[in-house]
Amino acid sequence: MSACALPAPRSAWLAQLGEAMRRHRGWILGIQWVVLAAYLFLVITPAFLPLPESDAHLWDNLTLAAQFAFWGIWWPFVLISMMLMGRVWCGVLCPEGFVSEQVSRFGLGRPVPRWIKWGGWPFVAFLGTTIYGQLVSVYEYPKAALLVLGGSTVAAIAVGLVYGRNKRVWCRHLCPVNGVFGLLARLAPVHFRTDRDAWETPPAKKVIPINCAPLVDIRRMASAAECHMCGRCAGHRDAVRLAARAPGSEIAQLGTQDVDRWEVHLLVFGIIGTAIGAFQWSASPWFVQAKLAAADWLVERDAFALLGDDIPWWLLTHYPEANDVFTWLDGLLILGYIGTAAVLIGGWISLWLRVAAQLLREPDGHLRLAYALIPLGGVGVFLGLSGLTVTLLSAEGIVLSTLPELRGLLLAAGTIASLALGIAQVRRAVPPRTRGAAALLAFAAAAAGAVMPWVAMFYLW
Ligand code: SF4
Repeated sequence: MSACALPAPRSAWLAQLGEAMRRHRGWILGIQWVVLAAYLFLVITPAFLPLPESDAHLWDNLTLAAQFAFWGIWWPFVLISMMLMGRVWCGVLCPEGFVSEQVSRFGLGRPVPRWIKWGGWPFVAFLGTTIYGQLVSVYEYPKAALLVLGGSTVAAIAVGLVYGRNKRVWCRHLCPVNGVFGLLARLAPVHFRTDRDAWETPPAKKVIPINCAPLVDIRRMASAAECHMCGRCAGHRDAVRLAARAPGSEIAQLGTQDVDRWEVHLLVFGIIGTAIGAFQWSASPWFVQAKLAAADWLVERDAFALLGDDIPWWLLTHYPEANDVFTWLDGLLILGYIGTAAVLIGGWISLWLRVAAQLLREPDGHLRLAYALIPLGGVGVFLGLSGLTVTLLSAEGIVLSTLPELRGLLLAAGTIASLALGIAQVRRAVPPRTRGAAALLAFAAAAAGAVMPWVAMFYLW
């Protein structure tokens, strides 16, 4: 990738920080054990407690505290951290990756089979967990959280026990958020950088091989997408160091040979399209209208099967004690809403990206241009997730009076960042001025597809 060939700003303190991570690996392991213990406690215990009473608070109810910790703080701010620091979460804090790697030390150590390496897993796993999470109300109920998060952890352990030795095969190929984290980390202003010339230089002393748990080819590493920022390779062969780079430079310099179709599908139809549908349906007046119309239509025909709600909680939300029960019709409409949003929004964006690529006379240029939408995708998911943070805080009487302005600022920042990356990518195609301007307009139309649904949700409905 050409981004790696660019001279990076020299930051001695960053390089030293990277080496400190390698030298103090014991500390990182200690932190990982503590996070694992806290994670297991917070994900398991609330599932066996009664649901909070209406007068319970974050500070006196473990279920509410765990809900706030997981969905109000952890998840939205992990996403932000990806854009600011790369995948430090994965390499230093994530309990699931850590436990998968630990058990792989004692497992069967089998080679990774081809089916696990299939490039579509991040897309399928993200869609699956996002949609299923909505059906069982994963953000609201601890049993659902245990099923989704705990199920993922059990799968990570199982994969670690069978495949790889001292590796994170789960994280590299199957983790439902691996693709999202990889995309967002491409924006980060820090990364572990390999100097190929230094690497090729015969070393003066014996080189001890590095165990890169997420199976990164460190010698050829040119992207921050797969590196977990664990620091184990810092200083290796005097060629790898933690370094600064211009934010978004990896995207701006992306070549057609560096793109991945599945990654683009994940961004356009998953992180943008599906996530918008998932965050929007419960606030959408269209959803309410469709539900009322469908229910009327069914009642008029004495067809009550779809209005039944005797459904297990692990299939559809079912908490009569909290007056929160989904019918089959609810489930179908949620699936329909999210699916329609994903197809319409993703389709709109794909269409305009293809128009831009045609104008640039670049057959697969739409794939390269799609990466410029990563800031909007990241900001959108953060806004959606932080909606729960806001709801939980307002239930405690903490109301952010400047919330509309803050949301507007974040959306504006994401839009400006995406447009700036779009301009950089269009320029790289060196089109004639008129076609370049037209391609930029087409790109802006694509970006609007990722902005307008949030504007409708926050300011129009
Ligand atoms: S390349 Fe591998 S070993 Fe090096 S920091 Fe990234 S994850 Fe760790």
